Amino acid sequence: MDFSDCRYDGSGTFTLSACPTSARIDKDKRESIEEATLENIARMADLQDKLYADAREGVIILFQAMDAAGKDSTIKKVMTGLNPQGVNVHNFRQPSSEELGHDYLWRAARHLPQRGFIGLFNRSYYEDVLVTRVHSLQNGYAMPDRCLGMDADSFYGLRLRQIRDFERHLWENGYRILKIMLNVSPDEQRRRFLERIDNPAKNWKFSSNDLAERELWPQYMQAYEQAISHTSTPESPWYVIPADQKWFARYLVSQAVVDVLEACDPQYPTISEEQRARLAECRIRLTQ
Ligand code: ATP
Ligand code: MG
Repeated sequence: MDFSDCRYDGSGTFTLSACPTSARIDKDKRESIEEATLENIARMADLQDKLYADAREGVIILFQAMDAAGKDSTIKKVMTGLNPQGVNVHNFRQPSSEELGHDYLWRAARHLPQRGFIGLFNRSYYEDVLVTRVHSLQNGYAMPDRCLGMDADSFYGLRLRQIRDFERHLWENGYRILKIMLNVSPDEQRRRFLERIDNPAKNWKFSSNDLAERELWPQYMQAYEQAISHTSTPESPWYVIPADQKWFARYLVSQAVVDVLEACDPQYPTISEEQRARLAECRIRLTQ
């Protein structure tokens, strides 16, 4: 299985339940897969250096998933090779009252990387069509009737179109977006929750509220399916990555990141004859 098997670009129908949560790769392949991941990480570092020097494209890598699917650890492990100077990471938590006072894309726009940078979004504006939809949070928004006076399907239909427009706008302004859903199974989530409860070093990661969200699994899957099927395009496809085997998920994510950086085709800026002559002069002054 390859990362391209996990890509949805909007052609054909998307069915989340048909996406595997495990690639069922043999455990004895683990070592060679982890080596390949390390090679991808090295390649990533090289490409990022060029992206930064080139500064014509910006890259947004966003992660969405149910709790304990491995967003944090994937970000930590896969991004180790990147130069922190060219990376911004942002966690999208419950919106503050200032954020709620703006339109929902405002906070995403505020955290966009500048071109040449990589922006990592741990959760994203997709929360506004996922958790918001599952809990009908729109009913509590302070907005006029023309924005809210409709059923939930119409309201979220509009948001999905707005997200498509937003991503198109970014594409037309020098950005690429890599959208990753870490697809974990409910069984594996249970195992990881138990580990968070049993292991004192992981207790802080668990909240009893996580169980309440777990009980809404089918509603979340429905919201994810709608979101992914309405926002996958050839320019900004979704990758639904089987996440039950963390080491394999990391491999697939590392492949997808290398792919998007390669697509940017970053080049070190070349210099003019005049600049080259000036460099030669400086060289002489330094060696006299
Ligand atoms: P972990 O997977 O390790 O638990 P996390 O990403 O869940 O990490 P938390 O700080 O536990 O991090 O949770 C952030 C919470 O904020 C999530 O439950 C998420 O659904 C919620 N959230 C994010 N954006 C919004 C939004 N726009 N409206 C309402 N809730 C949101
Ligand atoms: Mg959480």
